[in-house]
Parts: sequence; C-alpha cells; structure tokens
Amino acid sequence: MTAYSQRVHHRGYVHAPVQYAYLDTDAYVDSRMKNIGKEGMYFETENPVSPDSGIHIVMTNYPVVAAAPHTYRNYTATVKWCASAPSPGASLFGVGVHFISRGNIITGDHLDRLVQSCDLCGKMRPFLEMTLTPAAAYICGFCDKHMTALPSGEIRDSIENFMIGNVL
Ligand SMILES: [Zn+2]
Repeated sequence: MTAYSQRVHHRGYVHAPVQYAYLDTDAYVDSRMKNIGKEGMYFETENPVSPDSGIHIVMTNYPVVAAAPHTYRNYTATVKWCASAPSPGASLFGVGVHFISRGNIITGDHLDRLVQSCDLCGKMRPFLEMTLTPAAAYICGFCDKHMTALPSGEIRDSIENFMIGNVL
C-alpha cells in the first residue's frame, strides 16, 4: 500500500492539519482544523490570533480524493473570535473564522515558508518546489520528473484522475 492510499483511508475532515498566516506575511503557523462548514472553520493553535484580522489558511495535505463539496485547499478568512480551547494537557487557543474566499489553487506573494504534502506520494515539501498539474493537483519534484517521463496517454491520464479523485 502506498503512502498516498494510506493517507486517503485514515484521514477525515475533522482534525486535519492546516497552516495559517496573517495576510501579507509568510509566517505560516502549523495548526489543526477541528471542524469545517460552508461559511467557516474552527481550528486550534498554540498562539492567540487577533480577532477581526485577515488570515490565509492552507490545508497541509488536502484530501483531494475524499473532498466534501464545501472543502477547498485554501481559504482567505476573517477571524471572528479566539479563546482558550478546552484541550486537556495542552495550552491551545481555539479560533473561529469566517471565509472570504476559497479555492483549490494556492495564490499569494508570501508562500516561501508554506509546506504541502505531495498529492501523489504524500511527502511534505516546500510549496515553492511543487508543480501544479493541469488537473489542479500539487506534486513534488520527484513525482513531477516521473510524470513528465510518462508518455502522454492513458496511464498518465489515470494518474491525474486518481489525484483529483475521479477514480472509477
Ligand atoms: Zn511526490
């Protein structure tokens, strides 16, 4: 079983790793999404986040295959509230945000410190080293090299379809 298929089977929509940064900064902080809805999400993090501020949130290993209709790879959001989280044994802050925009293509000028997991092999890589495929998957340099070496055609199309969840 590949790392990728293990990841698909063992990950749900709650408790997914995310990274956030204030807009116009590259200071991405690891945190953990606990809940998500159409209009916003709740995540927990070690540092308080200023209410009313704008943040960029990126899912660290976006579960393309299992994606629910209202989930995306990245979001721009306004912080609605921040409070101590009821987490025994750890000092965490709970943050509620309201989405301003969302999408599956990561955009922005401050992505130097963002990391993502490769949609094909699952390895964590700096975002700026990754390649966006025509099917809107992000793959690492290693996988890109192997994908590029494949003749275009049925096998390559199948891999692309697998990455974006169109598995028949
Ligand atoms: Zn890869």
